[in-house]
Amino acid sequence: MAQKFGVIGLAVMGENLALNVESKGFPVAVYNRSPEKTDNFVKRAQTEFNLEVAKDSDADPNKPVFAAYSLESFVQALERPRRILVMVKAGRAVDAVIEQLKPLLEKGDMIIDGGNSLYTDTQRRTEELEPTGLGFIGMGVSGGEEGALLGPSLMPGGTEAAYREIEAIVTKIAAQVDDGPCVTYIGPGGAGHFVKMVHNGIEYGDMQIIAEAYDLMKSVLGLNHEELYEVFNEWYDTPELDSYLVEITKDIFTNMDEKTGKPLVELIVDAAGQKGTGLWTATNALEMGIAIPTIGAAVDARIMSSLKDQRVAASKELSGPAFTFTGDKKAMIDKIRDAMYCSKICSYAQGMDLISKGNQELFDGKINLGETARIWKGGCIIRARFLNKIKHAYDENGQLANLLLAPEFKQTILDRQAAWREVIVLAAQAGIPVPAFSASLDYFDSYRRDRLPQNLTQAQRDYFGAHTFERVDEPRGNFVHHEWTAAP
Ligand code: NAP
Repeated sequence: MAQKFGVIGLAVMGENLALNVESKGFPVAVYNRSPEKTDNFVKRAQTEFNLEVAKDSDADPNKPVFAAYSLESFVQALERPRRILVMVKAGRAVDAVIEQLKPLLEKGDMIIDGGNSLYTDTQRRTEELEPTGLGFIGMGVSGGEEGALLGPSLMPGGTEAAYREIEAIVTKIAAQVDDGPCVTYIGPGGAGHFVKMVHNGIEYGDMQIIAEAYDLMKSVLGLNHEELYEVFNEWYDTPELDSYLVEITKDIFTNMDEKTGKPLVELIVDAAGQKGTGLWTATNALEMGIAIPTIGAAVDARIMSSLKDQRVAASKELSGPAFTFTGDKKAMIDKIRDAMYCSKICSYAQGMDLISKGNQELFDGKINLGETARIWKGGCIIRARFLNKIKHAYDENGQLANLLLAPEFKQTILDRQAAWREVIVLAAQAGIPVPAFSASLDYFDSYRRDRLPQNLTQAQRDYFGAHTFERVDEPRGNFVHHEWTAAP
């Protein structure tokens, strides 16, 4: 019996994906550069999952798991065309593994890069592998360790023919939701990793929006961790805010530190890490000319948070306003919920706009935005009930210019904008930064105004650089210059 699927890289993601594949009835071969990880995997498969594991030296390879200690035996164990998932550190390691695999594989075999690769690397690898006759799929995987084992959201890109070769397996291992598995063919080349990159940017936005709501309720309204749990628990039960991130947020408030008896979250240093996918989203958006201010604000917020020592020093020099909240707490909590939801809609509008631009410019219009929202409904970190609305919006109108204009969201935002504005005023009065709430409102206000002050910007550009401008009373595209210094 040949193994039907191979996994290279047995760190947390690779080992759990391999176990997931096996649990769906596909015998799996695994390999890791350092044999210790393979040993650990074998132990875990045997003890935790009760699996029979064959090893290189084993006389009986007919077992559901084959643990290879050389790439050669790994490749030999696989059914043809071989399907090999590479789950190693993104970057040079992926190129190194591909180079090692190339001489061992045969035409029609398939390499699937499931790491968090930059989509331009995936485009390059696709082009480099094309002449070899090997198939290549760049597949975004979301859901972390648990998702990898129980069902992640998968975003595969590459040729459609290559996707069809792995479809039977990936549709089984993906998270399953009411309308199907959380996987779909995303598009050519690096489309899968592009969509995964934007997914991660949206994740940054979601997390920052939640953090701002928490800060306002804790620092301005004075809610303790039990009250914060109650609020997030209530929000989790609403169609707008029912999401994995709100779910884990409420749970976080119930975790007490054993050493001090205090809520653990309050003992965590307020300096957020980042691995770079939020930054990639922000830089790509800038390069493509798409405004994603909420996601950008979330990246900036993590950068500012990391200046811990400077902030502690500055807090002794730069005071904010003295402010005590005297209003109706319950009413303000509802307004913060509204601000959160409006900001979230803006953040997704930006992310989907970036995917739409990438789709037009790089991926031959193959990305289906509604399907993209659907496969995020399960398995991944941004899974949320409200993704149904996004899917519906794009299903109804595939040419939708911006989510803000979709019937699902337009009236919601219009109804809640007064509350949203009030929350931002409160934050400014109290001296609490709400960069994602504010950036989202600025996005909304910029998008909805028919006239912005960039007429003045154009006048300045023409004044100092003769960059020309268009007039409101002449057809667009008719650029003129004015001799500004000649004015009386
Ligand atoms: P990781 O810590 O990113 O990478 C460790 C793995 O990469 C080990 O198996 C390691 O092998 C291998 N590796 C590193 N350099 C190598 C090289 N030059 N040649 C061969 N193998 C090499 O592992 P991970 O957290 O499981 O993530 C795997 C991929 O999935 C990454 O791209 C990550 O960004 C992405 N991802 C991670 C998560 C998550 O929640 N962790 C979620 C989604 C996606 P050795 O044991 O020999 O060092």
